[in-house]
Amino acid sequence: MTEPILLTPGPLTTAAQTKAAMLADWGSWDGAFNALTASVCRDLVAIVDAAEDHVCVPLQGSGTFAVEAALGTLVPKNGKVLVPDNGSYCKRIVRILGYLGREAVVLAHGEQEPADPTRIDAALAADRAITHVAQVHCETGTGILNPLREIAAAVAGRGRGLIVDAMSSYGAIPIDARTLRFDALIAASGKCLEGVPGMGFVIARRALLERGGGNSHSLAMDLVDQWQYLEKCGQWRFTPPTHVVAALRAAIDQFQLQGGRAARLARYTENCAALVCGMRALGLRTFLPDDLQAPIIVTFHSPPDPAYDFHEFYRRVRDRGFILYPGKLTAVDTFRVGCIGAIGVDTMKRAVAAIADALHEMGVRRLGPE
Ligand SMILES: *Cc1c(COP(=O)(O)O)cnc(C)c1O
Repeated sequence: MTEPILLTPGPLTTAAQTKAAMLADWGSWDGAFNALTASVCRDLVAIVDAAEDHVCVPLQGSGTFAVEAALGTLVPKNGKVLVPDNGSYCKRIVRILGYLGREAVVLAHGEQEPADPTRIDAALAADRAITHVAQVHCETGTGILNPLREIAAAVAGRGRGLIVDAMSSYGAIPIDARTLRFDALIAASGKCLEGVPGMGFVIARRALLERGGGNSHSLAMDLVDQWQYLEKCGQWRFTPPTHVVAALRAAIDQFQLQGGRAARLARYTENCAALVCGMRALGLRTFLPDDLQAPIIVTFHSPPDPAYDFHEFYRRVRDRGFILYPGKLTAVDTFRVGCIGAIGVDTMKRAVAAIADALHEMGVRRLGPE
């Protein structure tokens, strides 16, 4: 069986070496595994140019677990969080805050509108009770890139804490902890690092964790407790995702050999350009203008033809070896195609050809407005 190519931004297509790294079993008490965890954490801190001031706290689970853990650990029970909202992952943060019983203030934006640093600054000036801003960097729901540098400057200027969901940008889009001030930056194993899913991590300011815990509603989600235990004995508190960590080690090795973050961004940028260029040549339209588009995932308008049906389209493209993603917008009918994973321009071109064939076979003739 040949596996389909995953054009979904996590899980995504991984390299053979990354998969091969999962063929061994590791003892969670063993020194070799502790060394593996330590080396992964060290590299994860270095990828965003963070050094002594920051630590990496890994956490079992998907990315959302790490987002929830970061909010629960770092926002005090009487804290208040501003959430600039331009998509589904921003809305997920608001839901998490609701579960955690933390007050949230939503700063609504359109889904084609980047989060606005001026409005964020004004919201912080107007409400001194806001303690933190929770910002999604690349909003994977649409693929829009939010201006993190300007937002971080506004938040720092007002003396508030910044918690960044950098899940789909970490490892590709530049983030420099030396010049960009944040309390916590959250990402996971199975996105731009091209590992397998199963481990999230939080790059947090050391001083905040050293203050101690007391905020977290949950033992399993308490990052202070997780960090203290790792510091003390080099081990995860509870059963670690051993194979995921081993695969991530292999994925980071390849990331470094291929030229690190800049090279990864360059490859994804080429993938995205090949995809968008090919799809536009077919007559399909992107949801976002090019200057707001991150080269991570692209949202396309569904063809306005009565013969189009997403499930049928999905099945036919899958038969040709590619897995697409449904749209995540409520107002407009869309589908999404990821540009990340261990894939290159050739794969993107073959995906466009598969999409063209599938639409043709379905009798979809109108791909965009006349
Ligand atoms: C993938 C992702 C998450 C986490 O989603 P999980 O399904 O829990 O892995 C969170 N935020 C963003 C922006 C993401 O892209």
